[in-house]
Amino acid sequence: MIRRLCVIGVGLIGGSLARALREAGYVQEVIGSSRNAEHLQRAVELGVIDRFDTDPASAVRGADMVFVSVPLGAMGGVFASIKDSLSENAVVTDGGSAKSSVVADVRRAVGEVPAWFVPGHPIAGTEQSGVDAAFAGLYQGRRVILTPLQETSREAVVRVRAMWEAAGALVNEMEAAHHDEVLAATSHLPHILAFALVESLARMSEQREIFEYAAGGFRDFTRIASSDPVMWRDICLANGDAILSMVARFEDDVAVLAKAIREHDAEQLLAIFKAAKSARDTFAG
Ligand code: NAP
Repeated sequence: MIRRLCVIGVGLIGGSLARALREAGYVQEVIGSSRNAEHLQRAVELGVIDRFDTDPASAVRGADMVFVSVPLGAMGGVFASIKDSLSENAVVTDGGSAKSSVVADVRRAVGEVPAWFVPGHPIAGTEQSGVDAAFAGLYQGRRVILTPLQETSREAVVRVRAMWEAAGALVNEMEAAHHDEVLAATSHLPHILAFALVESLARMSEQREIFEYAAGGFRDFTRIASSDPVMWRDICLANGDAILSMVARFEDDVAVLAKAIREHDAEQLLAIFKAAKSARDTFAG
């Protein structure tokens, strides 16, 4: 049970966690913090938080759990602001989509990776952002990856795990670098491809006609290109190496496909599509 939760960045990810924990009766009081008081007032009106403070240092005072869910580019600044105001029993975790970069930001801001910090990432989301998009069921049955370090206190990990389980999530642990490789493949690459495809088509002169004929497949494939541009800029900057190695791999595979089309290699085309269909049918079951 959390007595006082402080959520820094009360948007889709932070707002949904607050909602889920309230619904589960796992938290007594929720304090919100971000840059814009109007956004925070809206979060109060929606019942996501009880009260707010735009100064993160004041917001974390007295909290036993702090969840940082700001864009990756803002993580370092937040940790620098809160590090001297945390309660003795406070545990801090985050929801950032890349993990090595957040660990590096915390190390820089605090001077070390403190025992009270548990890096985390909920593998859940939508293409919406802001507190209005937050809902209690976002984490139900979804995975959360924690990437504790040697320095991380085991008790802190246990408390963060219990929090996510109360929100309905299934919690796994892995190393930060491994997390970043896995997510580059399964989330970051697909988002980049969707953004690139839509932007490329939008620049074609017949764009109006093209989007008029966009059918189900195009909509399904490109839905994620409606995601927040700032968040995705920050993910590309934070996890560039892992993303670039996935892009290179994908370029090679597209080249193989293009060659098969050019050479009318029906067998090769069928083999690629069959392998892809079988993999998709298996994992999406
Ligand atoms: P969001 O809905 O845009 O919420 C981000 C919040 O952070 C906003 O409420 C914003 O409020 C606040 N904020 C921005 N800069 C800030 C700063 N410098 N200091 C304090 N607050 C700041 O974004 P989100 O989708 O919840 O994403 C939050 C984090 O979760 C990101 O690190 C993202 O990588 C990660 N994540 C996202 C998803 C997803 O699918 N969306 C999934 C998993 C993880 P103000 O404008 O009032 O400052």
